[in-house]
Amino acid sequence: MQIEEIIECDKKYFMNVFSGRYPVVIDHGTGVRVFGKDGSQYIDFLAGIGVNALGYAHPRLVAALEEQIKKMIHTSNLYYIEPQAYLEKLLINNSCADRVFFVNSGAEANEGAIKLARKYFKVKGENRYEIITAENSFHGRTLATLAATGQKKYQTPFQPLPVGFKSVPFNDLEAVEQAIGSETAAIMLEPVQGEGGVFPATAEYLQGLKELCTQEGILLIFDEIQCGLGRTGSLFAYQDYGVEPDILTLAKALGGGVPIGAFLAKEEVARAFEPGDHGSTFGGNHLATRAACTTLEVILEDGFLDKVRETGRYFKGRLNDLQRELDLIREVRGKGLMLALELADSIPAADVTMAMFTRGFLINAVRKHTLRFLPPLIIGKTEIDQMISELKGVLANYQ
Ligand SMILES: *Cc1c(COP(=O)(O)O)cnc(C)c1O
Repeated sequence: MQIEEIIECDKKYFMNVFSGRYPVVIDHGTGVRVFGKDGSQYIDFLAGIGVNALGYAHPRLVAALEEQIKKMIHTSNLYYIEPQAYLEKLLINNSCADRVFFVNSGAEANEGAIKLARKYFKVKGENRYEIITAENSFHGRTLATLAATGQKKYQTPFQPLPVGFKSVPFNDLEAVEQAIGSETAAIMLEPVQGEGGVFPATAEYLQGLKELCTQEGILLIFDEIQCGLGRTGSLFAYQDYGVEPDILTLAKALGGGVPIGAFLAKEEVARAFEPGDHGSTFGGNHLATRAACTTLEVILEDGFLDKVRETGRYFKGRLNDLQRELDLIREVRGKGLMLALELADSIPAADVTMAMFTRGFLINAVRKHTLRFLPPLIIGKTEIDQMISELKGVLANYQ
């Protein structure tokens, strides 16, 4: 198809939920660079929204997938699947959880987590079903995960939503304490809020929540769909805080671009699920789990996460420099390679991302005045320097 035809087709046939795509047909990529069908090229600081942790065409991922596609893409969960079993082992041996279930997306992982929390209390004979979440959170687009998402703008058009969800201000322990009632089953949150604008939880908050959950006999669910799998410089963000959740959800980076999600749980909680309680046709298939095995193996290699931490520190340092040099940045936030710039109220973030796009950099505006950076975890200092220097030029226009 010609470029014009592709764009015309999409405008005519695709449901109009993405407010105007950037004017490029992305065609292929290598390393941290992606290329448009028109020959344009971009350094990627968004990584398919935190998905392409290993960048593009990573040789190990390509080789594993080529081999896998020739052997088998999919069978059903009625049979044992080798890469699925290997992925179970990798995830359990490297996390605080004892069991895992595979799905296809983040929303589905959270749906599973919510069902598991409810079933856990059903089995115990307790009438606890309510999930307390944080304001400004993001947990997905299905009806239950929308109800969990503490942002009215996403919820209002789809009322009525499933009941049993309540949201309270983030990083406010007392608000959670007050919200807990006799029907509360779990507290669910992102250790670092992503779509809400990159807000890390404080250590006191998560540690306080853990104590609260233990004291009240309720569950702690961490949604690490965006902040997990190396993004913050640890394999899981909860490790940065020394706070173990009872249920953990993953997706985005897990398959290095192949759709896969997972929810993991401690044995005592996981045991609540019995045959027939849950399922998935695609979840955990050969292709997706093989992709995830390879992605995880690379992330777990000696030195990989050290490098992410170091690059993250460097990147944040450069953003801090920018804040000092220009009087246009209100805050630098984030952990590892999950970073944000809060711009002055006079600067529309969407205009900045468009100007950066024109200069060959993919970055993202999560809110009206917030830029978010989620580069592939293999991003280098050279690309960071290039991006910062362009960004400085773009922002200087607003001085
Ligand atoms: C992206 C995201 C989701 C939803 O994932 P999908 O794969 O789009 O369903 C849920 N939680 C968090 C924290 C996310 O960043």
